[in-house]
Amino acid sequence: MTNRTPFVGGNWKMNTDATTGNALARALASGLDTSGGVEVAIYPPFVYLSSISQSLAGSDISLGAQDAYHEPSGAFTGEISLDMLKDCGVRSVLTGHSERRHVIGENDTIVNKKTRAVLASGLQVVLCIGETLDQRESGKTDAINEHQTRAGLEGVSRDQLSRVVIAYEPVWAIGTGKTATPEDAQNAHARIRELIATMYDQNAADAIRIIYGGSMKPGNAGELMAMPDIDGGLIGGASLVSDDFLSIIRSSVAQGV
Ligand code: PEP
Repeated sequence: MTNRTPFVGGNWKMNTDATTGNALARALASGLDTSGGVEVAIYPPFVYLSSISQSLAGSDISLGAQDAYHEPSGAFTGEISLDMLKDCGVRSVLTGHSERRHVIGENDTIVNKKTRAVLASGLQVVLCIGETLDQRESGKTDAINEHQTRAGLEGVSRDQLSRVVIAYEPVWAIGTGKTATPEDAQNAHARIRELIATMYDQNAADAIRIIYGGSMKPGNAGELMAMPDIDGGLIGGASLVSDDFLSIIRSSVAQGV
């Protein structure tokens, strides 16, 4: 039985401003009391990363970015490179978030390029996967998760996998108030873990953190994270309220994932 340290991430999306974002970061930094029993990262908007890095100074909360561009520099107007993110104190990057896939239009090839670039830069990646409502209703959840996991991790080495967290986020559950049942989420996570064993080996599968995202909140976090293959959460809306996010973090430690 592998003891995986739970991972809880807060995806702020396009929310907060300089004042509220820094206030939130400071509230989290001063309220976090987990004695290392959980890994916590927050993903504020790009433009606040540098100042929030100061607000987090001395805390155990890692700074993350919601996206990154895979090229190192050059004529890519509007994009942000991994070196730029590192300059701001970023240690973790989201790839393949459903809003990047389904709202912005990123395909598997782009998600894979970004995932590989993040890993090549030495940072941690949180690779997000998950099915839409139509795909779920036509029984394709596991097939979509398999496809997105294989595509996202193409070319990722066994060594690099230790810096990968997989976030299973059913698209229909993100920001909708609808949550997968703990049993449905557990089934999906168990299949993803089996797939990692097939793609790499059993030790890699036992070690990788697979977290759940989709309307996780203080009221449902405990039962979700009590499931054996759910190793934490990626939290959107509830990560914008410090007491709610801290409560979810405490649930992850209490479950001793
Ligand atoms: C997310 O943004 O990854 C997410 C899970 O959002 P929410 O918690 O609001 O559903």
